[in-house]
Amino acid sequence: MEAHKISVTKVMTKKPKPANDQLGFGRHFTDHMFIMDYHIEKGWFDPRIVPYQALTLDPAAMIFHYGQTVFEGLKAYYTDSNEIQLFRPEENIKRLNRSSARMCIPEIDPELALTAIKQLVAVDKEWVPTIEGTSLYIRPFIVATEPYLGVAPAKQYQFIIILSPVGAYYSEGINPVKIAVENQYIRAIKGGTGEAKTAGNYAGSLIAQEKVTNHGFAQVLWLDGYEQKYIEEVGSMNVFFKINGEVVTPALSGSILPGITRMSVIELLKQWGVPVRETKLSLTDLQAAYQQGTLEEAFGSGTAAVISPIGELHYQSHALVLNNNQTGPLAKKLYDTLTGIQYGKLEDAFNWTV
Ligand code: PMP
Repeated sequence: MEAHKISVTKVMTKKPKPANDQLGFGRHFTDHMFIMDYHIEKGWFDPRIVPYQALTLDPAAMIFHYGQTVFEGLKAYYTDSNEIQLFRPEENIKRLNRSSARMCIPEIDPELALTAIKQLVAVDKEWVPTIEGTSLYIRPFIVATEPYLGVAPAKQYQFIIILSPVGAYYSEGINPVKIAVENQYIRAIKGGTGEAKTAGNYAGSLIAQEKVTNHGFAQVLWLDGYEQKYIEEVGSMNVFFKINGEVVTPALSGSILPGITRMSVIELLKQWGVPVRETKLSLTDLQAAYQQGTLEEAFGSGTAAVISPIGELHYQSHALVLNNNQTGPLAKKLYDTLTGIQYGKLEDAFNWTV
């Protein structure tokens, strides 16, 4: 297909925009959306930008029954030079296609996907909030639309992109959070779908989150599904520990979502000459480092928070208090550097922004 012919139908009347302090996360949506259809006999066709609207789907649409779907999450940032930039969008598109491959969903031309994101953001550019720390969250996703109750890959899909202006994640400055190690539920196992950004992983993890929020914890720390011994992720973020001057993060084992922030953190640390290792890291190793006084910092990484320092880690009868419950210097430096690049305040030596 012709990759770049996206038709555009604009709204007659624009919606009122929410005030900057009312943004929150994922509650408000812009005036337009992108849609493209797929049929097994035609491939992907009819890419279009249309007014934001409800979908009409057959109740037998396969997405409702067997959850064949994938999604992505990235942001557009308003810079000091009044430009709008994306952070490593090609990586999100690559991950979308990898997720699709796992879920038997047809892949999308990466160039078309990038053009679609750029054009949609351009059409709705007035929706990119301009106050410090705010951004326009971009949610591309694919759903199986074929009406059929057989358990099989669908023959019809829709690829959709919606946009949502979001508030600053840290409205009161970057703050360490309290984490509980999850010892009952498992997020993902090797060979399962944990490496893919697909709805079921998130539906299945809600119960663990519910359990701990009632006890004042921000997130759970996920362990491996075999021995419940090795550290995997924190909430919906990747996780890093600084132990004795070296930064360690769980190796991508098949059950961990390969985060784009994670990848960027590793590349930055390497550039700074900070030793960084992707490895299997057990809770026992962590406890030992803590007792020896070599566990210096811990933090999560992800698009939403960028860097989220861990102040306390609780499991069984243990409570590990990290860096006096303060944001560590490395977490701070990574946060400042990544957000500096995203908002165009720092030089983008890696060419990450688009
Ligand atoms: N792990 C999970 C389970 C996630 O949902 C996310 C958010 N996409 C991440 C890690 C972090 O990925 P990224 O840095 O690409 O946002």
